[in-house]
Amino acid sequence: MLKVDLHSHSTVSDGLLAPRQLVRYAAEQGVHVLALTDHDDLAGLAEARDEAALQGIQFVTGTEISVTWRRRTIHIVGLRVDADNAALVAGLERLRESRFDRARRIAAELEKIGIHGAFEGATAHASERIISRSHFARFLIDEGHAKDMRSVFKNYLVKGKPGYVEHVWAELHEALEWIHGAGGIAVIAHPGRYDLGPTLMNELFTEFKDLGGRAVEVVSGSHSPDEFGRFADLARRFGLLASRGSDYHGPGHSYVDMGRLAAMPASCTPVWHDWREVLEAA
Ligand code: AMP
Ligand code: MN
Ligand code: MN
Ligand code: MN
Repeated sequence: MLKVDLHSHSTVSDGLLAPRQLVRYAAEQGVHVLALTDHDDLAGLAEARDEAALQGIQFVTGTEISVTWRRRTIHIVGLRVDADNAALVAGLERLRESRFDRARRIAAELEKIGIHGAFEGATAHASERIISRSHFARFLIDEGHAKDMRSVFKNYLVKGKPGYVEHVWAELHEALEWIHGAGGIAVIAHPGRYDLGPTLMNELFTEFKDLGGRAVEVVSGSHSPDEFGRFADLARRFGLLASRGSDYHGPGHSYVDMGRLAAMPASCTPVWHDWREVLEAA
């Protein structure tokens, strides 16, 4: 089987491996085609591309854009984007900047329940470029407030729990405009993670499709096998291509190890069906 993984993170955002290490690890795990999709950033792509060439694996540029849709946070992956596109670069920079203000607000919420120094603690886990809830999660684990990532995101940092704050990310149409302007393909990331009933999920898919979105993650590290089938059906119903990505964040911080992702259901048309990178890897 050709191993295609179109969703992964490095230390540029909230992964544990530097872009170069991540690509080496992917190569060791037998991945043939890898996309690096750091949250709201493109800064790791040049290094990752360079290492992919050394390792003889095919590389796909990407990013995972934070979006607010109907007051909920969803993620849109952009694949095969031009990393030098000015509007995309500027849009992502705006999102990264807004993360610092959000991080101050998260720390203030944690302060209210007696957890001190969270901003500094989270920052110590972060790169200079981005601060995310993952970095707060690592701080909370270090300080003994939770045993692992899963338990952090059950008890903290999510709606109704300490450390949660609302935040306004990019609009859906903006994210798609940035991706398309940069020559890329827009993909709905891990739809199984969103708290949307069937009506809202249909509305999201409809709006996304109307804005020129092309694909949806069917096989994801965040999906159960049941969800592979469910989103394979939805993809077909909406005429969307299917993507596949581990959402790898590093050892111990991922639901599935690099290279271990399930195969794409046979009923799907893979988003890479006509990609040169994949034809060359095959
Ligand atoms: P942010 O973009 O700052 O809101 O951070 C979101 C990140 O937190 C995601 O990209 C994941 O890496 C991590 N995360 C969110 N929910 C979970 C979860 N239930 N388990 C593990 N990691 C999570
Ligand atoms: Mn993440
Ligand atoms: Mn995501
Ligand atoms: Mn991700």
